[in-house]
Amino acid sequence: GTPERSVPDAVRTTCPYCGVGCGVTASVDGTGLASVKGDASHPSNFGRLCSKGSALAETLSLDDRVLHPRIDGRTADWDEALDLVAAKFRSTIAEHGPDAVAFYVSGQLLTEDYYVANKLMKGFIGSGNIDTNSRLCMASSVAGHRRAFGADTVPGTYEDLELTDLAVLVGSNLAWCHPVLFQRLLAAKAARPDMKIVVVDPRRTATAEAADLFLPIAPNGDVALFNGLLSHLAREGKADAGFVSAHTSGLDDALAASAADIEITAAGTGLSTADIATFFQLFAATEKVVTVYSQGVNQSVSGTDKVNAMINCHLFTGRIGRPGMGPFSVTGQPNAMGGREVGGLANQLAAHMDFDEIARDRVARFWGTDRLASRPGLKAVDLFEAVGDGRVKAIWIMGTNPVVSMPAANRVRDALARCPFVVVSDVVSGADTAALAHVLLPAAAWGEKDGTVTNSERRISRQRPFLPLPGDARSDWWIMTQVAQRLGFKKAFAYEGPADIFREHAALSAFENDGTRDFDIGAFENVTNTDYEALEPFQWPAPKGGNPPTHDGRFFATGRFYTSDTRARFIPTPVQAKQDYSGLRLNTGRIRDQWHTMTRTGKTPRLASHIAEPFAELHPSDASQLGVTPAGLVQITSAHGAAVARALVTDRQQPGSVFVPMHWTTEYAPAARIDAAVSPAVDPVSGQPGLKLTDVAVTPFAVA
Ligand code: SF4
Repeated sequence: GTPERSVPDAVRTTCPYCGVGCGVTASVDGTGLASVKGDASHPSNFGRLCSKGSALAETLSLDDRVLHPRIDGRTADWDEALDLVAAKFRSTIAEHGPDAVAFYVSGQLLTEDYYVANKLMKGFIGSGNIDTNSRLCMASSVAGHRRAFGADTVPGTYEDLELTDLAVLVGSNLAWCHPVLFQRLLAAKAARPDMKIVVVDPRRTATAEAADLFLPIAPNGDVALFNGLLSHLAREGKADAGFVSAHTSGLDDALAASAADIEITAAGTGLSTADIATFFQLFAATEKVVTVYSQGVNQSVSGTDKVNAMINCHLFTGRIGRPGMGPFSVTGQPNAMGGREVGGLANQLAAHMDFDEIARDRVARFWGTDRLASRPGLKAVDLFEAVGDGRVKAIWIMGTNPVVSMPAANRVRDALARCPFVVVSDVVSGADTAALAHVLLPAAAWGEKDGTVTNSERRISRQRPFLPLPGDARSDWWIMTQVAQRLGFKKAFAYEGPADIFREHAALSAFENDGTRDFDIGAFENVTNTDYEALEPFQWPAPKGGNPPTHDGRFFATGRFYTSDTRARFIPTPVQAKQDYSGLRLNTGRIRDQWHTMTRTGKTPRLASHIAEPFAELHPSDASQLGVTPAGLVQITSAHGAAVARALVTDRQQPGSVFVPMHWTTEYAPAARIDAAVSPAVDPVSGQPGLKLTDVAVTPFAVA
């Protein structure tokens, strides 16, 4: 049987787009017309919304929805589709072992969905092969946190951006990618004009327009900049010596690896010595500094070192865990953080635990399984390589479109086309990945889903349904439990609703936690269905009996970290040798009014009216040298593939570089998948692809 559901008229829920995690109030009138407003009581946005959030009600049509299961393109019923998925996974595992199957999931999944996916793959199928598109989003931040703090812990809260005296935004176009957080920052600056904003970015973005100091850094110059800053702080005697000696280790090695004067820093960053000196003096002289970073840092082959180079400067000055200061990673997706909590990354087991023997024993006892995966699985880029070379023979993709969003996307498309069994759970049928599915399963969309998400400041909020499930669409957790039960795991997957899963998730986070694990929401392990339904947004940790080891919602104010000796680690981050480029350096990213591969935001003309088609932003000197005319078509070609876009010639772009947005799919523009051209090279520590730097040729494109 499938769940019945009654839907109330108006609900408080959470925006499904970026990691700010704004609260919204959604209602449906008597004719079925939805409206969405900012939730004034939600502590992430206090009623604010951005253009994407305020257009949510316009993106709910059922056009292109997958309404029924499909097998090889024909409509099927749930039993037939679920039986087939279970049978194919069972036979593949029996013949080739558990590592011959994989799940590739998404920061669009709710935490309850993620929990079930992780438990099924790592706990009962017995493979670590579950990775997430969040690998493309924030894996370098996770790795940097774990190296420095001993756990994946975001130290601060959004309020720190309002309380700070200096906000340093690194590789973050906050104005377009986290607009409500940017609104909060600008409102604070308007109230306290002495507050300073520094923007570090190779592009002069909308965010840079608000900067007191804009540092147009060379691509991948971030490690050189923050190594130079650490050296400067040391030369100027700006250490918080008490904090460093009592609560950290490894400073000498980090200082030795980062040694640089201003001239060396200028050579490594492409910045003027005057701008560097201004920034260093500002940072040195200001106690309340928050360093906010996003994909320009994470999506790099040296992303983890960039994160640690910034954290090193905060540890050195003891500026962490106190109001208005700290390093602050903002995540791209609505539930990137929830995925991190449940083990949605292939290299983490569950509830922020690793694959060490103690954690494996603990999780195996908690889940009651003797099949627990013994080692980490394949990270996203390696996972699709394994699909391509036949090691992975059955893959289930949920709520993501890797044929568009993965680097070297043509290889991913070809790998899926060769794969013996591809299952896709999704909302729309026209997505490039869904077209390759042997079995396409109708998933519930935003407005229909029921569960929780966690935003960039560790705040867990409810996503509540306000629309009926259309056709045969079902929640992702329900679909997976049906397959798990058909695989023989009836008792472990006997959930009746998301509250059951949330209680178990909370209990696992607290199971045998003696205070040495950061992620703990044990206070909710016995939450009633009624209280889960009414759950107010809260920040973790929330351990049983209260007394969280935090300071006003912040971590590390006491100087106690999650390493074995409770000390934070300085990490040496030597600058990598500069690479030579034969063409232009391709940078990819988001635009203000579209989200990911446009499966929702593409539905409303209002959002398309901001920027209507894919563009390639070039400096005038490059355009003239390459014979590119403004608004003419150009082809961007790399060793991996090619895409076509319209030239946007502007001096916001540095000479020698080109920027192309990541959103457009073949549905909207046949040759616009820029990720076809993007290099699949990854950061060796985090496995995150360097989506922001590929050597490409740009040439005028003539329509045949
Ligand atoms: Fe949604 Fe992010 Fe905009 Fe908030 S800032 S309304 S979460 S897209």
